[in-house]
Amino acid sequence: MRHGDVNALIDLADTGDINAMAQLGILYLKGDRVEQDYGKAFLLLQDAALACDGDAMMHLGSMYENGYCVERDLWVAMNLYKKAFTLLVPGARRALGNVYELIADSLTKTEGRLCISSDFQMTVCCEKMRDGIRMGRITLLEDAYGIGLFQTSLTQDSPLSQCPFCGADIEVFECD
Ligand SMILES: [Zn+2]
Repeated sequence: MRHGDVNALIDLADTGDINAMAQLGILYLKGDRVEQDYGKAFLLLQDAALACDGDAMMHLGSMYENGYCVERDLWVAMNLYKKAFTLLVPGARRALGNVYELIADSLTKTEGRLCISSDFQMTVCCEKMRDGIRMGRITLLEDAYGIGLFQTSLTQDSPLSQCPFCGADIEVFECD
């Protein structure tokens, strides 16, 4: 792509073309042929991701994973990678595996107690629970009833009320 093509891309993105917005957002994110601008990248990628553009989901996910322009949020990154994965975006599986790993490693263990909060914080009760999160088999999700811990597979997510490994009850904390 040459500079002239970037201008064409900017014009196209201005018309609301989703693919152009996604591609332009990626250029701003990387500082590729335009001056790097996380703010512009974020707005473009967010709009394109909402319109179900898989590339935009992947790159928006990386912004959340790294805390570029937004506060670092591994759970949001995970959900974006997960959606990208279902859209068969190249690299999504690896990005998802990486972020599961980061989340699992970041969790504090509170032996025998399993605590989750409405702002997507949690502690683990046992190492098997940490492994379940590392494998992507157990995840925090928000549904109509609020935040919950779910056993997850490609076909369905089942809510958990206790740890399937050590039996610790799930304690939910509210945040304001
Ligand atoms: Zn447990």
